[in-house]
Amino acid sequence: FKINMSQLDLDEELGRGNYGTVKKVLHKPTNVAMAMKEIRLELDDSKLNAILMELDILHRAVAPEIVEFYGAFFIESCVYYCMEYMDAGSLDKLQGAGVPEDVLARIASRMVTGLKFLKDDLQIMHRDVKPTNVLVNKKGEVKLCDFGVSGQLEKSLAKTNIGCQSYMAPERIKGESQNNLGTYTVSSDVWSLGLSLIEMTMGKYPYPPETYQNVFAQLTAIVHGPPPELPEGYSEDAQDFVAQCLMKDPNARATYAELLEHPFLGADRGREVDMAGWVARALAHRQEKTNQT
Ligand code: ADP
Repeated sequence: FKINMSQLDLDEELGRGNYGTVKKVLHKPTNVAMAMKEIRLELDDSKLNAILMELDILHRAVAPEIVEFYGAFFIESCVYYCMEYMDAGSLDKLQGAGVPEDVLARIASRMVTGLKFLKDDLQIMHRDVKPTNVLVNKKGEVKLCDFGVSGQLEKSLAKTNIGCQSYMAPERIKGESQNNLGTYTVSSDVWSLGLSLIEMTMGKYPYPPETYQNVFAQLTAIVHGPPPELPEGYSEDAQDFVAQCLMKDPNARATYAELLEHPFLGADRGREVDMAGWVARALAHRQEKTNQT
């Protein structure tokens, strides 16, 4: 079936990204709570139709590690994109209360499995791996969203915000600065994965803007400086896993198959991890902090 606006009851706003807002909605015919992302694009109907066609491959992106896609439509110059509602939000909001090693390994395992699925089954790379694009629910499930399926959509979203939090791999930053788009490959997503894991454990972006005089200095540090490391308190396996993701040379970086074989993820397999308990604690911690301010 096709989703359209008249079937939806709008609920609270869940968040705001670079390109639009995300609202919780109720799909009345099925009584399913969904998250609806609104992306404003100044495009004509034929371009918008082309984007909807490209988004259609998302119906094939069905895996336990991928946020389910329910459908998209456009009204005037806005694309509305409906997906599974994840009731604990994105990882960046859960990182304040600390991340034990077993939880970190489970998150890493889900992310690698999801990324490998996108690559092997859909022949796409994610292109935007970062904590805000990893969603969690109270059951403790961890799923990826916001990956690049639509060339048209990517082109239309002004990619001007290299921003103050770049998860781009060094080779990608170099390429973009030389206007050399398309030189990077799936291994660039592996870099972003490593950076996201470190951010989880530090509770903040690993190249904090306050350390650098400007965005240029920050990007220079990513391209020319040593890669960041996990803070103390994690095992050697964890340290090594992240180091394998953050090799400066993309050809030296681990592949998804290698990462799945790594002892850090080997230890995760078959291990009981109370993800739901961790999510509940992280949400409570966050609630406490918002109450204080
Ligand atoms: P960004 O551009 O930073 O990736 P998005 O526009 O994708 O941000 O999303 C903004 C915020 O909305 C996210 O940080 C997240 O907290 C929330 N959000 C996005 N998708 C969902 C979803 N499916 N379920 C619940 N919350 C979501």
